[in-house]
Amino acid sequence: MLDIQTIRAQFPILSQKVNGKPLVYFDNAATSQKPKVVIDAIASYYEEINANIHRGVHKLSQLATDAYEISRVKIQNHINAKHNYEVLFTAGTTHGINLVSNGFASLLKEGDEVMVSALEHHSNIVPWQMLCERTGAKLTIIPMDENGELIFSEFEKLLSGKTKIIAVNHISNALGTINPIKKIIEKAHQFGTAVLIDGAQATPHVKPDVQELDCDFYVFSGHKICGPTGTGILYGKEEWLNKLPPYQGGGEMIKEVTFEKTTYAELPHKFEAGTPNIAGGIVLGTAIDYLNEVGFDNITKYEHELLEYGTKRLSEIEGLKIYGPKSLDNKTSVISFNVGNIHPYDIGTIVDKLGIAVRTGHHCAQPIMNFFSIPGTIRASFSFYNTKEEIDALVEAVKKAVTMLS
Ligand code: PMP
Repeated sequence: MLDIQTIRAQFPILSQKVNGKPLVYFDNAATSQKPKVVIDAIASYYEEINANIHRGVHKLSQLATDAYEISRVKIQNHINAKHNYEVLFTAGTTHGINLVSNGFASLLKEGDEVMVSALEHHSNIVPWQMLCERTGAKLTIIPMDENGELIFSEFEKLLSGKTKIIAVNHISNALGTINPIKKIIEKAHQFGTAVLIDGAQATPHVKPDVQELDCDFYVFSGHKICGPTGTGILYGKEEWLNKLPPYQGGGEMIKEVTFEKTTYAELPHKFEAGTPNIAGGIVLGTAIDYLNEVGFDNITKYEHELLEYGTKRLSEIEGLKIYGPKSLDNKTSVISFNVGNIHPYDIGTIVDKLGIAVRTGHHCAQPIMNFFSIPGTIRASFSFYNTKEEIDALVEAVKKAVTMLS
């Protein structure tokens, strides 16, 4: 059982007023709020051990390097990676996907295929389109049905020995759909196809086990899991990381440099050119510790209660349509909806005046909106620090907006 009031007190931002009303923050799928331990850890790093890492013999450099590498191991344990050098620090999900898609340029030829799904965020579409343009590979798309769920039988038809990599999200940011990634990975491996999982929306809700999933790559962002912005992780299986060329050249990623030839450092440094976001990487470890203290079982269970409550309450509003899976067991705490023909932006603007932060628009997933022939949706995404009372406030605000706009 979570003590929500104690948890809320750990997030300073939640006690403020917006437009004269208590803030209700329901834009968690875009970014999470940060607990005080995370905010304090950033200041402590700069006040106590700030130095560049992996290079200095001096004390501060050693302390900063140790803290950075300890954080890598925390993340390794959190996602159950086999080796710490399979865990690469990145600037976020987008960075991780671009690192892999760029690397695949050296492995693809004309006629090969790259597969994504109809449910992807633009970050998991555009880099693969760019890769296809560069290599002459073809982009194929796993279709979805009216419930925003992938059609597995169509996936099986599309998959062949030509498919070199599949990039699919664990959970959809626009609809909250939980995708059957384990089944996709199992099937893909029968064809020797690599699978990258975009875990940006899964990691706030569940603890991924990359060995159990047997995925080849798993990417996520720190800022969505109570960590700092500009942080992220790319997990890659050792064999794949060894196959891919470096993404960026520079300091840190080399073994030896001459004007004739450069040799590259071992993993993970081969992919970590330049001075990284040291404070961010260290504090991402603090955020993961914090979430594990709250406990992912508690988080998942409580957020599901919020999803059930929010779905029931919002459905009371006449003309309100929720997009995404009908079975709540197949989605996370994201409710994407519209009311009649009212533009989502108009409802979002009025709701904001009442202190409630929701996201409106296409959620960087325009193909999903095109599928439903809508300009966008209003998206309320709940985190473990939200309450049922806040959902009541959202319902009242939406009702008010609908009255004003009808
Ligand atoms: N994929 C998904 C499913 C996402 O929700 C997001 C963030 N909205 C991203 C990728 C991109 O993450 P970032 O902007 O942190 O790189």
